Amino acid sequence: MTAIARDFVSLVRQVVPGERATLHEPVFGGNEKKYLLECIDSGYVSSVGQFVTRFEKDLATYVGAEYAVAVSNGTVGLQLALVASGVQPGQEVLVPALSFVATANAVSHTGAIAHFVDVDPETWGLDPVALRIHLQSIGRLDSGKLLNKNTGREIVAVVPMHTLGHPVDMAGILEVSAEFGLIVVEDAAESLGSFIGDVHTGLFGTVGMLSFNGNKTMTTGGGGALVTNDENLARKLKHLSTTARVPHRWSFDHDDIGFNFRMPNTNAALGVAQLEQLPGFVTKQRALFSRYEQVFSHVDFGVVKEERQGTRSNYWLQALLLDPHHASDRDVILDSAHDAGIALRPLWNPLNELSPYLAHPSAPTPVTQDLCARVICLPSSASLMDVAFS
Ligand SMILES: *Cc1c(COP(=O)(O)O)cnc(C)c1O
Repeated sequence: MTAIARDFVSLVRQVVPGERATLHEPVFGGNEKKYLLECIDSGYVSSVGQFVTRFEKDLATYVGAEYAVAVSNGTVGLQLALVASGVQPGQEVLVPALSFVATANAVSHTGAIAHFVDVDPETWGLDPVALRIHLQSIGRLDSGKLLNKNTGREIVAVVPMHTLGHPVDMAGILEVSAEFGLIVVEDAAESLGSFIGDVHTGLFGTVGMLSFNGNKTMTTGGGGALVTNDENLARKLKHLSTTARVPHRWSFDHDDIGFNFRMPNTNAALGVAQLEQLPGFVTKQRALFSRYEQVFSHVDFGVVKEERQGTRSNYWLQALLLDPHHASDRDVILDSAHDAGIALRPLWNPLNELSPYLAHPSAPTPVTQDLCARVICLPSSASLMDVAFS
């Protein structure tokens, strides 16, 4: 163990005094059991039931969207959002090279091709300036279509992602998207409870995806939702997610090749209970940032990631950015922390360096590579605010 690794672990220990610390764990402190029992007692545990409708309504209210459509997880939700927005097999979709692999996989599952772009060193999300420069260099407008000069394929959409809960520069991305005629689908999987001004993330593009996986700010076990203000799109999302069945008392008529992506009633029951506690979870995650900031304020090896002005982050994952000349200490810190029972994590590997995506089109991604080498994610559960700190 190096001196930095020892310091790092003892500083994290001030915030995380327990034996073991996971990265992010769920808190079930409300009506979860009550609502789950209601499901079981009513017999409605599967794809029909009052909690799905209630969850969609409550979620739409919380984020300030006209419509929310619950789905079985965020990855399929993103796939569905892309399909319903008009993305076709063989087209290209721009994706930040810095994201969880699901962002690119969802694009692949539509039959489209993920095309990687770099992120901004401030937001850690898709960089509108780098995006414009890249599209000016490799793009060609041909009768209203944006073609990739290198591949000949049409580029139709962009999927900005709000990294670790910190809102990306949506104004900049919307401007470039309008300029090049791109559909904007937001991967807001990590940013439930994060806002730009007064607007919740996921509501800037055509449609936004939220995830309720077990490690996210709130959970439905597994699950996701799509949020939008577009009534026709919302209807299409619901229809396609439920086998595209034409409503009828007994007939099985389906007017499209639909998906079975709906959220079961039991998961929605968990969701309703979790949503009741969501403002409290976000308050705690935000307060946890202040603890880490205080603890790491005097170190000379890095800084804790803070929300950008004009945005309100849910601080889903707390993160420390090592100074460039301390990047080489990262792995020792991670190893030492794991030895001490603290599950620190790096960021993801750059998506354009993963074997399934090596041959995919990509802009240069120096910022992604740099951040991946220097960021350390810290234990971030809301429940950490329930333990003493001095
Ligand atoms: C969690 C996550 C997803 C996928 O969500 P699931 O519900 O686990 O399928 C997609 N994108 C990002 C950036 C995520 O963090």
